[in-house]
Amino acid sequence: MPDRSDNDSRKLLKRLRDSLAEPGQGQERLDYVTTLIADSMGTEVCSIYLFRDAETLELCATEGLRAEAVHNTRLRLGEGLVGRVARTAVPINTADAPAEKGFRFMAETGEECFSSFLGVPIQRVGEKLGVLVVQSKASREFSEDEVYALEVVAMVLAEMTELGAFIGDGAALGALHKQQVMFRGGTGQEGSAEGKVWLHEPRVVVANPVADDPEVETLRIRDAVGKLRVSVDDLLAAQSLDKEQKQVLEAYRMFAHSRGWLRRMEEDIQAGLSAEAAVEKEQSTTRARLSQVPDAYLRERLNDLDDLANRLLRILTGQGQDTGAEMPDDPVLVARNIGPAELLEYGRKLRGVVLAEGSVGSHAAIVARALTIPLVINAKGIINEALNGDHILVDGDQGIAHLRPEASVATGFRDKIAMQTQAQQRYAGLRDKPAISRDGQRICLQMNAGLMADLPSLEGSGAEGVGLFRTELQFLIRNKMPKRDELAKLYAYVMDAAHGRSVSFRTLDIGSDKVLPYMTPQDEPNPAMGWRAIRVGLDKPGVLRMQAQALIRAARGRPLSIMFPFIAEHAEFISARAHVLRQVEREAALGRPTPETLEIGAMLETPSLAFAPQAFFEMADFISIGGNDLKQFFFAADRENERVRRRYDTLNASFLGFIGQIVSRCAQTSTRLSFCGEDAGRPVEAICLAAMGLHSLSMRPASIGPVKSLILRTDLAALRKVIDAECAKGVESVRPAVMDFLAKQPNS
Ligand code: PEP
Ligand code: MG
Repeated sequence: MPDRSDNDSRKLLKRLRDSLAEPGQGQERLDYVTTLIADSMGTEVCSIYLFRDAETLELCATEGLRAEAVHNTRLRLGEGLVGRVARTAVPINTADAPAEKGFRFMAETGEECFSSFLGVPIQRVGEKLGVLVVQSKASREFSEDEVYALEVVAMVLAEMTELGAFIGDGAALGALHKQQVMFRGGTGQEGSAEGKVWLHEPRVVVANPVADDPEVETLRIRDAVGKLRVSVDDLLAAQSLDKEQKQVLEAYRMFAHSRGWLRRMEEDIQAGLSAEAAVEKEQSTTRARLSQVPDAYLRERLNDLDDLANRLLRILTGQGQDTGAEMPDDPVLVARNIGPAELLEYGRKLRGVVLAEGSVGSHAAIVARALTIPLVINAKGIINEALNGDHILVDGDQGIAHLRPEASVATGFRDKIAMQTQAQQRYAGLRDKPAISRDGQRICLQMNAGLMADLPSLEGSGAEGVGLFRTELQFLIRNKMPKRDELAKLYAYVMDAAHGRSVSFRTLDIGSDKVLPYMTPQDEPNPAMGWRAIRVGLDKPGVLRMQAQALIRAARGRPLSIMFPFIAEHAEFISARAHVLRQVEREAALGRPTPETLEIGAMLETPSLAFAPQAFFEMADFISIGGNDLKQFFFAADRENERVRRRYDTLNASFLGFIGQIVSRCAQTSTRLSFCGEDAGRPVEAICLAAMGLHSLSMRPASIGPVKSLILRTDLAALRKVIDAECAKGVESVRPAVMDFLAKQPNS
């Protein structure tokens, strides 16, 4: 094989690009491209394999293998050398292919006489499109230059695929981003929505992957990198950064100034790529590495590099966050993941949200619930598939998103929405009815809130009060710490809207995944068990005091109810309570009105508090079980980790037994007890909690109707007997018996 020069590469890329302008079908173009590549690379074989579905690769064109194998030879992801390249996104270069681990002999291709094999992934910023292979009879490894040249060619093929150059008959040549695709993920928030895709981070479109003039492209990339460096330097120079933030940005800056990165991109340009395609090529390599690095710190750094590449692409293409596209009237947000603050910024205008990652216990999910926006999480791959404006159906109940659905799917879906609307109307009919079980037990149903937008639900849902007001949401939606007077006004507004119904304000619960943009990020190995909630409040009491003052002023002599998040021991409660009481004294000394009654409670979110001394239960005016956190610590299963979250059932006999113990301890001291985790809003879980003696439940407003409807139909004492009998038998979960009990009970 002759030595390849940059000139050879450039010539080949130009010819590939020019083939785009030629009229012709995708198949003809693919055939032509394989001939061109084999010819330019001096190999007997060049083959292109493309995905026909997420798991299957199909030989779509070849120069050198048997023509009858085209569209007949198929491989699963990971199968054979080609499948392995596709799975790992790492090239395979071998002098003796049959001796290579995992080699799969495909008789129909006639490849037995070709010994050397070089396969590289065809991918575009993490989106796997296929595999490009060259083979030759001579038994030899390909040189580094040759591997590199083939990677550059694969990059151009990826861009050509994206631009629709290879569209033809059959699934493997289907147009990208045109077909119906269903994503099966998980439920983040129930409900259904229909709308148009709005990408949180729109895809950058690279119109020309090949450099017309490498000198011009080199100047462009240098100029863009220069601008990128200035913007990172500006960030670093910002006054408000503290030491830790600076350290993080220093590492980021180091990458931006990395000579190696720029040099590699300049080499890509010399090989014939445009500046944009060069950035994407390096980004694809970073992403492939990212998936293989086990070390969390290194992964973070590679993520920085990925982020820089995105910024660079946006500088080069001028396609900023704002691509000029108009948000549709019925937007469904599609994102890899999103923080609670960003989601709040979009607010209620969203019809639905679909996340490629995410988890049901995250605060973004809680925000989606507060906003009653259907949310599907874990819809793997949707980021690469969805385009702005695509028609999309979000089925939050099933955790499914239908992208570009066919008419029959859309019709069935609309029927379902109509049925749900009817059910909501039925629930609305129960609004003013008290929740009294068949056996006469009165259950108090309250709602969780945190946004001003939640308040109309107080009337609409029939909630008897606000059992949990998450004050941190007001901190998360701002880009600087809110002032005391601003908060006082806001809390007063909430109390006004409650018209005398009780509102339990939870003091600031930050940390874990709730990170305030204007507070120093804590680099903690395990934030869920780290410096969060009341721990921050007690260590930095300024904010706790300020919140207490704001609440006292907001009450203007009315009754006030305050609770602290994440109390793990009595001493924490004593200190937090003392802070609040001191503020009451201070306000009184200033001649301001103090609350008519003041109730100070604790959230029970760590198992330790259930075993606190009697004095704690006597001191607390009320206790609210934060079931989301309590369950994660009871089972030691991260509420945000989809892999383990579902492993343990809320109706697990041990967990219900534990709840029963908390109920008894509170009963001994007549301490009011309620439950405000997400399980309170799930009808079956809710009636079991009620049967265990929890007679006050706080949930998202939309759940009040369904929960009340089931309570009205249930004999809670009989249900308790079923639960006790199951626990006595030693079952793991009482769910099967509970479902059986429900199926047998009369329906009205
Ligand atoms: C809980 O942990 O159950 C709770 C209500 O608090 P949050 O979900 O806000 O952590
Ligand atoms: Mg909690």
